[in-house]
Amino acid sequence: MTKLDFLERYGQEDEPYVCASCGNCTLVCPVFHELKWESYGPRGKLHVVKSILEGKSEFGKDFAHKIFLCNLCEHCTSVCTTGISLDRFWEVVRAEVRERGFLPAPAQFVLKSLKERGDIMWMGSADRLLWMEDIEEIVKGRILKKAKVAYFLGCNVSLKSQLHDVAKSMVKIMDYAGVDFTLLGDKEVCCGAPLGWAGNLKDINEMAEKNLEIIRELGVETIVFSCPSCILTWSEYSEYLKENQNIELLTASQFISRLIRERRLSFEEQPMITPTFHDPCISARVLKATEEPREIMDYIPGVYHVEMNPSRQNTRCCGSHGLLDVVDPILASKIAEVRLRDVTVTPATRIVTECPRCILAFDLAKFTTNYDILVQDITQLVASSLAPKDEGGAKDQ
Ligand code: SF4
Ligand code: SF4
Repeated sequence: MTKLDFLERYGQEDEPYVCASCGNCTLVCPVFHELKWESYGPRGKLHVVKSILEGKSEFGKDFAHKIFLCNLCEHCTSVCTTGISLDRFWEVVRAEVRERGFLPAPAQFVLKSLKERGDIMWMGSADRLLWMEDIEEIVKGRILKKAKVAYFLGCNVSLKSQLHDVAKSMVKIMDYAGVDFTLLGDKEVCCGAPLGWAGNLKDINEMAEKNLEIIRELGVETIVFSCPSCILTWSEYSEYLKENQNIELLTASQFISRLIRERRLSFEEQPMITPTFHDPCISARVLKATEEPREIMDYIPGVYHVEMNPSRQNTRCCGSHGLLDVVDPILASKIAEVRLRDVTVTPATRIVTECPRCILAFDLAKFTTNYDILVQDITQLVASSLAPKDEGGAKDQ
């Protein structure tokens, strides 16, 4: 069977014919850069879809696998001369891959884990409380408390021990600034983004609404996120958020920037820290949240950030988005190594970012490249630079 009715269902049937074959997308695609074959790049894949539409090719297992060799990094979409929303297109094709039973085994596992455990790692709700060890004093009484601000951790930050310090740093910053905030604790479930990456577009709304039910009950007006993909999913799939535009969705650095502007954070002089900022794909190309992390770094005394190339909207993917890290971990790791090489030509001594997947990818690439550099989330840099409270915390600057 080659017919692609599903493209019509999602209003995507014209995309393969709109393509002008300019190749802009191929030039920026990290997967094409590694594999060097046109058929692995976005233009090549789009042409195969066209050929399937015309009955010249089969929608077979090989093509299905190629569709998953993609970071959903939005770089092709951002440079497309004819305005094709390629990332949406790849998700729709992945949905058809699933329908036809060609889903790669790691993607099947992710779907099963989401359905049965509410997370992507087969861990379960009780494990979402483990990160709070040793900061009980700060989180005590915060879980499911009514408050105007909620901190949504996401699966990676709450469940992966190497990222627990990101969550601890964020709550320490909020506590330092006197923010009245709430946590969803073991009631938090995955935002639903991996459902779309694994080809299940129809259940994302339902998943997104599970967390929103709690947010509604708690009277939250601002939600702070440690993961850009969570924000994107909440904003695209929650009907409640679409109807209630007064609920703000902020990246951690957007929220921290606000706290700095309100003079609620004080910093102590740092011993000459030279970080570079890695813009996560979704933060930069979709949320357009590139300036706040830089403003924060510039505000901390003793921190002198340097830029790496490419950056901001042209940032290079870390390799770990869109399930590539589970479908083809070796390819994902090679893509991360390329990004680490961008750092080696700067004087930076650490990479600061604000996406848990980027942190995991770079931590792994450090081992495969032997490149010894500290990888941090922006919240970790901020929390570790705060002035001791008894020496004037939260004082005016
Ligand atoms: S989303 Fe990224 S990895 Fe996927 S085709 Fe586009 S540029 Fe390549
Ligand atoms: S950038 Fe857009 S128009 Fe150009 S080849 Fe890629 S998909 Fe086609």
